[in-house]
Amino acid sequence: MSFSTFNKQFSPDKARFLSSLAVSIIVMSVVFVLTNSILNKSIKTAKEEYINRCSTTLDGYSNAVYFYLKNYKTSLESIYDENLLKTDNETEIRKWVKQNRPLLHDDFKRLFYINKKGIAYIEDDMIVDISEKGYFKEIKPVSGKINVSNVYCTENEINPVVIISIPYVDSNGEINGVLAASIEVQTLYKIKKEIVKDKNFDLYLQDRAGKFIIHIDKNYIGKTFTPNDSKHNYVTSEFISSSAPGYVETIDSRGEIIDLFYTKLPTSDWILALSFPRSQLEKIYQKRNRERFAILAISFIAILILLFAQKYVLSYFYQKQAIKIDYDSDTNLWTREKFEDVAAKLIKYSPNQKYMLIESDIRGFKFINQNYGEETANKLIFYFASKLNKITKDYRGIIGHGYADRFYSLIKIKNVTPSMTQFKIRLEELTEEIKKYDIPFYPKFGITFFNTNSKKDISIRELIGQATFAKSSIKDNMLTSYAIYNARIVDKMNETQFIETNAEQALNNNEFFVLYQPKILLSNDKIVGAEALVRWKTADGKFYTPDKFIPIFEQNGFIKKLDYYVYDKVFKFIDNQLKNGGLAVPISVNMSRNHSKPERFVNEFMRLFNKYNIPTNMIQIEIIERSIMEYNTLREITERLHNEGFTVAMDDFGSGESSLNMLSKVPVDVLKFDRDFLTSSTNDDGSMNERAAKFIASLLELGRNLEKETIFEGVETAAQRDFLKQAACDQVQGYFYSRPLTENDFIEFMKNHI
Ligand code: C2E
Ligand code: CA
Ligand code: CA
Repeated sequence: MSFSTFNKQFSPDKARFLSSLAVSIIVMSVVFVLTNSILNKSIKTAKEEYINRCSTTLDGYSNAVYFYLKNYKTSLESIYDENLLKTDNETEIRKWVKQNRPLLHDDFKRLFYINKKGIAYIEDDMIVDISEKGYFKEIKPVSGKINVSNVYCTENEINPVVIISIPYVDSNGEINGVLAASIEVQTLYKIKKEIVKDKNFDLYLQDRAGKFIIHIDKNYIGKTFTPNDSKHNYVTSEFISSSAPGYVETIDSRGEIIDLFYTKLPTSDWILALSFPRSQLEKIYQKRNRERFAILAISFIAILILLFAQKYVLSYFYQKQAIKIDYDSDTNLWTREKFEDVAAKLIKYSPNQKYMLIESDIRGFKFINQNYGEETANKLIFYFASKLNKITKDYRGIIGHGYADRFYSLIKIKNVTPSMTQFKIRLEELTEEIKKYDIPFYPKFGITFFNTNSKKDISIRELIGQATFAKSSIKDNMLTSYAIYNARIVDKMNETQFIETNAEQALNNNEFFVLYQPKILLSNDKIVGAEALVRWKTADGKFYTPDKFIPIFEQNGFIKKLDYYVYDKVFKFIDNQLKNGGLAVPISVNMSRNHSKPERFVNEFMRLFNKYNIPTNMIQIEIIERSIMEYNTLREITERLHNEGFTVAMDDFGSGESSLNMLSKVPVDVLKFDRDFLTSSTNDDGSMNERAAKFIASLLELGRNLEKETIFEGVETAAQRDFLKQAACDQVQGYFYSRPLTENDFIEFMKNHI
């Protein structure tokens, strides 16, 4: 298992950034699709809008043109005179025409009166029979109605003209005469000049026969446009007049693509057409496309800005600590604060629910940190975090990272027992996994169970406190990796605390005292010595055996002080016995693991020893094996004690793995075999296990060959004693002969076994 696998995970910042990026891309896509469809629609509507606009423009022009024609009619109407009908007198008619001409609109070319026979009395004294002319026949017999002719080329005129006429209609509906005036078509051209201000489009005006009154190309005026090219067909009158109003895409005479919008003028039925260059529509499209692009670009930029702003604004606020940082950057897990927040809410809002809260950490993490370096330690934390996270998430729990190697998990459970079964299974799996990891490490867990229904309201802080408490109860116990919070743990913790805080005072109050456990020489069953074993009886009568307080004192270092205290008591006891002529045997005292400076230890030992007047052979020191590295310390201590004249015993011999190795390094005088040898080689019926017995025998032989004295402790039965005697063990110590005894009892024992 390598670290790099775990480094690939994203940091929360990066993850947040990527997720916002993903969201942004989705938003972008949605915006894109939406704007696109809106704009597609708007392009469709753009076309409609364009058509509408063109049609409206055309209507406007149509009105304007109509206005001109109406103006002409009004002008004619103003000289309208019924009396004309009553006379056939040519002179009078001519006179009338002559008189009225100046009253007429300047645009008119000639004014004339047509009698009912079709004789036209034209100004300038021309009289022409026009009874057969088309425009005369076309005049509709509606009183007061203006008639507008098509374009005509008359014999009298150089230029084509149109004729505006008002018929005089009698009560029978017959035309009695017509008041008419001609306008040169080129005069009408001014209409275009006057009304068309926009160069983008052209105005065409055709008469009912398709002859152009207004055309961009003046050559066509008065003529029908008959293009050779079929594409130009539409601009001809046949098509337009039949389908007006309407529009068509075509090419104008200049070859440009245009949309030609056309409509019939009222009264005249002339066709007014406006050509809009296609480029106009294209311009609208382009504008829309530009708009679309702009919208997309703006939204894209806006999202990018938002994204970066979010990143920087957030980090700004993080820096200013205005925002609570929910994620821990070492592990990508929630911080403890966030965990507490969420956990508190969970507990508050889920009544009648059982929970399991676990605090986890790594044994000796400080040591790992110091020895492997911070970077490695951080990777280890990351690894551990990812494992815990996986497990917690498998149970849909929540997890947070506290200080250093501490993690907190909160998991909903149904019942305690199955949850613990699950926990143990997962713990076993985890232990297996951890074995594959680069650095061996051992996690430990403190667990507390609680029910949200329980009457007393308990805060998440208190619960974490309980888990911490449970976990700390196993901090010195390598064999246990978890502890569940309960009253017993509290008692134990209280006891630990009591021991820690009261040791010093207890020492001053002489609450510690020494018991002596006899050592028996197997060859004659006589007492040959004793081991001094400490006890603690508190002022209020509580009694503690060493297994309760020695591990604690080894932790806080108080054991060194206690060792010297015991030595002093033992020396004093022997000194007293000798002084008073009492019995005395050599006493062995224990030296704890904590003495790491041989010279300092032996000096203090001697200072105490020299206070009394006892021979060195009355004292033996039991040393205890430590890690391999400290064989040198043990050797030096042993050598120094030898130099002072004491004998040294190796305590608990055989309990460590390298005891035999140690034998060649530390020149002890006595091998004190561990009690475990006996317990593990005794059958249930109390007899000795044969193979184990052989092994013990061979060890004893080894001791003899090395010229060491051999002693067995923990002898509880005659069978054990007999076996050891037969295996030529020198001495034994154990309940079979005696329990540790008070001074007085011990003196009594000596009397009986000397
Ligand atoms: P240890 O030095 O191996 O002491 C022998 C322990 O075995 C003693 O337990 C003794 O009471 C017990 N024992 C003796 N015979 C039998 C037996 O037949 N059966 C059983 N089951 N146990 C037997 P104790 O007095 O509770 O001491 C426990 C340990 O505490 C000692 O183990 C020693 O390591 C430490 N200790 C005791 N007194 C002192 C002391 O004054 N200084 C230091 N540094 N350590 C001490
Ligand atoms: Ca001992
Ligand atoms: Ca021992």
